[in-house]
Amino acid sequence: MHVNLQYMLQRHITLKALNTFGFDAEASLFLPVADIDILKKVWKTNLLSLSSPLILGGGSNILFKSNYPGLVLHNRLSGKEVVKETEHHVWLRCGGGEIWHNVVMHAVQHNWGGLENMSLIPGTIGASPIQNIGAYGAELKDVFEELDAFDLLHGQMVKLTAEECEFGYRDSIFKQSGKGRYFITHVTLRLHKNPEVNVKYGDIAATIAEWGITRPGIADVSRAVIHIRKSKLPDPAELGNCGSFFKNPVVSKDDADKLSAAHPDAKRFDQPDGTVKIAAGWLIEKAGWKGYRRGDAGVHAKQALVLVNYGNATGTEVLTLAHDIVEDIFTKFQVKLEMEVNTR
Ligand SMILES: Cc1cc2nc3c(=O)[nH]c(=O)nc-3n(C[C@H](O)[C@H](O)[C@H](O)COP(=O)(O)OP(=O)(O)OC[C@H]3O[C@@H](n4cnc5c(N)ncnc54)[C@H](O)[C@@H]3O)c2cc1C
Repeated sequence: MHVNLQYMLQRHITLKALNTFGFDAEASLFLPVADIDILKKVWKTNLLSLSSPLILGGGSNILFKSNYPGLVLHNRLSGKEVVKETEHHVWLRCGGGEIWHNVVMHAVQHNWGGLENMSLIPGTIGASPIQNIGAYGAELKDVFEELDAFDLLHGQMVKLTAEECEFGYRDSIFKQSGKGRYFITHVTLRLHKNPEVNVKYGDIAATIAEWGITRPGIADVSRAVIHIRKSKLPDPAELGNCGSFFKNPVVSKDDADKLSAAHPDAKRFDQPDGTVKIAAGWLIEKAGWKGYRRGDAGVHAKQALVLVNYGNATGTEVLTLAHDIVEDIFTKFQVKLEMEVNTR
């Protein structure tokens, strides 16, 4: 592909429509990336060293504190391709800019199982490994085979296996030692051709039963998840938000037992490794923040875990509110909340 950066680079671009909080932040430089050659070309200039680059997908897990003074690389790499098939599995390789939910729908239509519980998670597939996205008892790592990325440090394409991605709970190498280093260009998923449904989590089983379905397939699970999510989570098109703002804190059993002794209604999930996950939403609600509003920044009235922009809040205002919540939760429960959302 012939790449002329001069024509592709845009200056002073508003990111308002490119982040689901709807903050009116401006990027000094903006480059749509629809081909890997663009990354190779930009690496040969001094643009990356002059202005720290930010990789942007759907903007559904990013909070802009203010204008972005550097270069925004907007992932628009497309394509879905079956690269391998056996009797039981199919390997689907997708361009990083593909919308995650479209990939899920593509898999469901072909009856390839593994993604259906993660229906309707916003954003791109290229961002899915960053926090090892998950919902309703499924995580990306369960279906992840490998990814291709452009290493912005060494200017070359690399492949990373699941092990090399160091996936954890809403975590990966891309949030730790590899932060900002890799532009994920493709993700390959390993899907099941004879899928078994997983309806154990949340209201999936009850929803399907309500619909009178006795032998659900993955399309039913997907429909149920979409139905539940729509009824529970605010639609960013109507109310700016990034989904769960905080991770569920993981504490020792001793600390969890102390919390349960003081608050028998504490929502806790004992983990196989002996640690305990506490529902961050429960902590925030219990501390009285649910429905709280300060200017146009607020805590959602139905979902305490979701911070919202009622219209004209700035990223800094939402972040200040988030810090106040973290401090208050620590004072009241001695539990430290960690942000799930990335800040820039
Ligand atoms: C209403 C709502 C509900 C949500 N529900 C869930 C949920 O159930 N489970 C869940 O896990 N998440 C959930 N999220 C969070 C969000 O959907 C995911 O984190 C998603 O993966 C973000 O994708 P994105 O393309 O929008 O990433 P962005 O917001 O654009 O970027 C997020 C981070 O990833 C980096 N990044 C993006 N693309 C790339 C790339 N190609 N290469 C390298 N780095 C990259 C960015 O620099 C940034 O640090 C929800 C968000 C919303 C708004």
